[in-house]
Amino acid sequence: MKAMSRLNVFACLLVAAVFGPGAHTSQAQNPPPADHPAVTVKGQTHTPRSILARNMGTPEDQTTAFPPHKVVGNIYYVGTRTLSSFLIVTPAGNILIDSTYERNVRTIEKSVTDLGFKFSEVKILLGNHAHGDHQEGDALVKQLTGAQVMVMAEDVPALQAMKPGGKEHPIDRILRDGETVTLGGTTLVAHLTPGHTRGCTTWTTTTQEGGRTYNVVFSCSLRSPAVLTPAIIDEMNRSFRLVRKLPCDVQVGDHPAQYNMYEKHAKLQSGGANPFVDPAGCTVEADIQEALFKAVLAEQQSAARP
Ligand SMILES: [Zn+2]
Repeated sequence: MKAMSRLNVFACLLVAAVFGPGAHTSQAQNPPPADHPAVTVKGQTHTPRSILARNMGTPEDQTTAFPPHKVVGNIYYVGTRTLSSFLIVTPAGNILIDSTYERNVRTIEKSVTDLGFKFSEVKILLGNHAHGDHQEGDALVKQLTGAQVMVMAEDVPALQAMKPGGKEHPIDRILRDGETVTLGGTTLVAHLTPGHTRGCTTWTTTTQEGGRTYNVVFSCSLRSPAVLTPAIIDEMNRSFRLVRKLPCDVQVGDHPAQYNMYEKHAKLQSGGANPFVDPAGCTVEADIQEALFKAVLAEQQSAARP
């Protein structure tokens, strides 16, 4: 108990130091992670706060379109500089993964249009996980396109609590681990990879390009919560095991930094092999996040010891 209360005091001081004294009230529900531990993976050092900064960038990064582009086969990037959104194009209409913030929906619509597709052709809307930066815009996307919104069962309570402007979160189909979503010859498999949220979903599919078939993994965030309960520890361990087993040629994530999108996109211009086809890179993000998770767990366990 004593160790825990000392930790709490430290967390409050940290919040005040980083976000200013006024920040504590608004952050009290969901305190930012303390900026330790630090882990080094492949020569790069990461902390909880550096990961958050890497993922989110500035408010401007979160709302400014990144040049929309083809990732591989029928899969396109239509998100912002730091919040991913993917369009999967089929002859029967399109699938969108992640509406991101509601204020980004019109930006995503423009990226879809700039690629030569119609936003109204989005027939199915899927999500990465029930946090506002990935799924807050679902109601507006549904309003604009009429898309069917399909969500993982374990994320339903968190999504129902997400009501931008008072709008109910649309849910047309509730998915269970391993279920599939099919449209126009493309099938996506929903893998429950909880930990970051209860219903965090890793999507997998295959796509063709240049006469070859590629396994594509849309990773869910593996970023460990700051406080690990026994249930979350089990979930995280299960998720790390699962994602390492997925067949993968192309890995993308809910934030571009999770798959080095900027560097890969820059290589697109040189016209060589598709830089997004990178089997060796498929588990780099899992390596970083698992190292951080284990370090957070070790800290928590040593703090809990009398
Ligand atoms: Zn999240």
